[in-house]
Amino acid sequence: MIGFVRSTLSTLSGRPRYRKYARYGLLQWRDRDAVLADQEVRLAWLIEHAYETVPYYRSLFDATGYDPADEFSMEWFSSLPLLSKDIIREQGSNMLSSATPGAERIRNNSGGSTGEPLSFYQDRQVFEEMHANWMLGLSFVGWTPDDLVVSFWGNPKEFERPPGLVDRMKGWLGGNIALNAYRYNDETMSGWVPTINRLGKVFVYGYVTVLTDFARYLLENGRPVKGVRAVVTSAEKLHGHQRALIADAFSCGVHDQYGSRETPCIAAECDHGGMHLLTHSSYVEFLPDASGSGERVVVTSFGNRTMPFIRYDIGDMARSREGECPCGRGFPLMEMDIGRSCDSLVTPSGSRVFGTYFVRQMYGVDGVKAFQFRQSGPGSIELRVVRGPGFSSESEQQLTAMEGRFGRELGEPIALAVSYVDEIPRTVGGKHRHVVCDVGG
Ligand SMILES: [Zn+2]
Repeated sequence: MIGFVRSTLSTLSGRPRYRKYARYGLLQWRDRDAVLADQEVRLAWLIEHAYETVPYYRSLFDATGYDPADEFSMEWFSSLPLLSKDIIREQGSNMLSSATPGAERIRNNSGGSTGEPLSFYQDRQVFEEMHANWMLGLSFVGWTPDDLVVSFWGNPKEFERPPGLVDRMKGWLGGNIALNAYRYNDETMSGWVPTINRLGKVFVYGYVTVLTDFARYLLENGRPVKGVRAVVTSAEKLHGHQRALIADAFSCGVHDQYGSRETPCIAAECDHGGMHLLTHSSYVEFLPDASGSGERVVVTSFGNRTMPFIRYDIGDMARSREGECPCGRGFPLMEMDIGRSCDSLVTPSGSRVFGTYFVRQMYGVDGVKAFQFRQSGPGSIELRVVRGPGFSSESEQQLTAMEGRFGRELGEPIALAVSYVDEIPRTVGGKHRHVVCDVGG
């Protein structure tokens, strides 16, 4: 009943997320051929849209002899050059569709899984798609619109103002209770336990690192949480030991979702452990990596018509998995390889601050080619920056102003040392890490 109220209120306020969720919910049970045929129609539509309205793609396709009157060909599509972050930066407004008026473009930023920050544009429909697919992914593990989700996600704005009654009412009506996971310590985690237990049947959603810390806290302190039907993780690689720890602490299954800020909702894991590609959301290719160590994920995302990402090299490694899933869904399967990793950093008093908080500080600082926050002691952080074109004295000022902001927002001073370097070493697996904590414990 409450699910009906939620969906009606959302639709009446001009948000089609529930309608989309219902449509994708039907698609998932069609057979593999039907799902792939639907995907090809979406891909052909996007290509036509990009050609008609995006200057970068028009000249790129023209150079291949593309004729919009011809039938869409997968062979031709697979011959297109990959889209990199460098191309997106160089092309700037050439990447934007003339079909979206300037006032409707929403700027967003990504820390980027390969360590190079990126600004890009979206529109409101992208958020509706994201929400619909988020619900679809939750439904893979038993959620319905009648159920509540507790999200360990949070917004740095809540440092300024804790959520009031109106925010909490909105959260309940939206079916999503958000707990601020940007800064937390044992006291905060202790407070999360009764919050969850009061809600009855819930689904838990959040960052892998935060949920792992919370799970460890629950087990070490013998604090049971009740009523959690399933835990869904996102935004970071979910390692086997973390999955086991979270499952133990919450006494339920743990399931992963995969996507990025610039190409959201790529795949979601079902309750049979199958990581299903959401074929209505994107078209994914797995291409051999030059190093020979695995396959790179190349994504064409259907959700963002304002700035289409076509054959985008996302910087992650994964592979496709053959066969059908016992759950019966028609969506094909994939397996993650080496994913993103983001540590928490520690304040002088011992509070942990989730790494994404630091990554977000870099959004909007122009001319940063790569960066890494690194901590070797609890009171100080080193920020290494690789400067690129566009780095200015204003960028430098933004970096030095961060120390003061940390003090204000985190409630205690942390010394920040900024150093400029030529490159930042990658991890053994070739991945870049934005936030690295070398402090023990
Ligand atoms: Zn499945």
